[in-house]
Amino acid sequence: MKKERLIKEINSGIERIMAEGADFCDARYYTEDSSETLTLYDGNLESNETTFESGLGVRVLYKGAWGFAASSREVAPAVTFKNAFSNAKTASRLVTVPLKMDLNPPVRGKYFSPVVEDPLNIPLEAKLAFLEDLDKKLQGTHIEHRIIEINLQRMHNFYWNSEGSFIERKLINCFAGSTVMALDSDGKMQMRSKVLHTPGHGTRGWEMVTKPELWSGRAEGIKEELARLLEAPELDFGKRSVILLPGQGMLQVHETIGHPLELDRILGYELSYAGGSFVRLESIGQLRYGSEKLNVSAYGSIANSPGSFGFDDEGTPERDYLLIDKGILVNCLTSRAMISEVNQVAGRQVFDQSGGASRSTAFYRAPIDRMTNVSILPGNDGNLDRIISATEDGLVLDNPKSWSIGSNREHFHFSCEIAWEVKDGRITRVLKNPTYQGHTLEFYANLNAVGDSSTWVVEQVPNCGKGEPNQLMEIGHGVPVLRFENVITGERV
Ligand SMILES: [Zn+2]
Repeated sequence: MKKERLIKEINSGIERIMAEGADFCDARYYTEDSSETLTLYDGNLESNETTFESGLGVRVLYKGAWGFAASSREVAPAVTFKNAFSNAKTASRLVTVPLKMDLNPPVRGKYFSPVVEDPLNIPLEAKLAFLEDLDKKLQGTHIEHRIIEINLQRMHNFYWNSEGSFIERKLINCFAGSTVMALDSDGKMQMRSKVLHTPGHGTRGWEMVTKPELWSGRAEGIKEELARLLEAPELDFGKRSVILLPGQGMLQVHETIGHPLELDRILGYELSYAGGSFVRLESIGQLRYGSEKLNVSAYGSIANSPGSFGFDDEGTPERDYLLIDKGILVNCLTSRAMISEVNQVAGRQVFDQSGGASRSTAFYRAPIDRMTNVSILPGNDGNLDRIISATEDGLVLDNPKSWSIGSNREHFHFSCEIAWEVKDGRITRVLKNPTYQGHTLEFYANLNAVGDSSTWVVEQVPNCGKGEPNQLMEIGHGVPVLRFENVITGERV
C-alpha cells in the first residue's frame, strides 16, 4: 500500500474508533523490522539467519479496558482497527480497575539512531571476513571451543495516537560476543567471554562492532585469562568483599534493580512468568534500597545504547530520571496506563508522569513496562586500581556464567567466569568457579565503593525476556566498578 494512502487510512481509523466512543487509540506501523544473526562455531559458519517483519498494531482503550490487534501489511488497516475495538469491548465487561489515559498534549518528533555504516547494508563477505579474522585471533593450543556471534537489527516505524501525536523512528542495534572454552584438570568446562560494550557516547552502526577497543581487541586477553583459569584453584567458601567489573555489574543491576522496579511487576502482572517484585507501592519515596553511594538512573539519552529509542511505544519522549537517589527508591519504570492504575489503587498521586518505558518488541505485540538504560551512576572512589588497593580481602569478579533469582527478586545467587583474589590491596591469583549470593537490600546496603567515570561503560543486553507471549527486548546498562563488603562467596562443602 502507498505510504500516503496508508497514513490516510490510519488517521481515519483512529477518528472512527474515537467517534464510536473509545477513550484512547494508538497505532504503530512498521515499514521494516529486520535482523541478521551470524554465528561462527570453531571457525565454521553455524548459522546465518535473517528476519523481516512489517505490519500494523492497533491499541484501543474502551470503558477502562485495552483491546489490541495486529496484521501484516497485506491486510487493510480498517480490519485491524475493527478487531482491536471489538477486543476492547469484550475486555471491558471484565474490568476491575478501569484504566485511564490522562490527556497529554500531542507529541510530534523523530528519532534516528546515530549511525555511520548501516550494519545490514555491509556485504555478507565483509562481515564474515571480519569474524573469521577475529576467530583466528581466538585460536590457541589450550582452546577447545570458540564461539563468535553478532546480531544486527534495523527497525523503521511510525506512531500515531488519538491525541494527535505523530512520531517516526529508525533504530539500529548491533550486538556482538565472543567466547573461548576449555576443560580444566577436574574435567569442568571453563570459559571467558567478551561482549560488545560502548563508552556511552558515539554512533551505533557497524563501525562500533569493528572498533577494537569495544570488543575484538580483547581476544588475547580472554585467551590468557582462560589459560590461567585452567590452572587455577577453586574459590573456597567465606565472607569477603567483592568488586564487580561492569561485565558482571550489568547482570546485578538488571536482575536486582531493573526487573523489580518495573511497575507492572509491582502491581502483580508478571507473577506467572519470571516472578514479581519485593517493591511495594508504599516503598516509593521511602525504601532504603542501598547505601548512600547507590544512585540509579533510567538514562534515556545514551546515544549509542539499545536502551535509547527517542520515544516509547505510547509516544512518550524518553527521558533521564533517577530511580534511586543516594540509596532511596524514588521512582520506577512506568507507562501511562500503569500510572493510572497505581494512582487509583493507592488512592493518591504516586506518579505524575510516565517514565517513557512502555515498549513493544514487534508490531504484533502490545507494549508493556520495560527497562530502558537502567544505569548505576559513577561515583568518586577512583579507578579500579585505587579500589583494589583499598581492599583488604576480596575478589574481583567478571561475567555471568549462571544465575538464579528469588521469585520477587529479594535474593540472588550468581556464578561468574573468573575471580581475581585480592589480599592487602594487591591481586594475588586467579580462582575458578567463583559464586556469590545475597539478599538484595542487604547487599546494596553494603555497597561501599563506586568507581569514577573512567570505569563506567554501557553494557548491552539483546534478549531480556518478559511478558506472555514472550517479548525479547534490547536494553542497556551503564555500570561503573562496584565494591560490596561482607558478601557470601563460594559454596559450603
Ligand atoms: Zn531481563
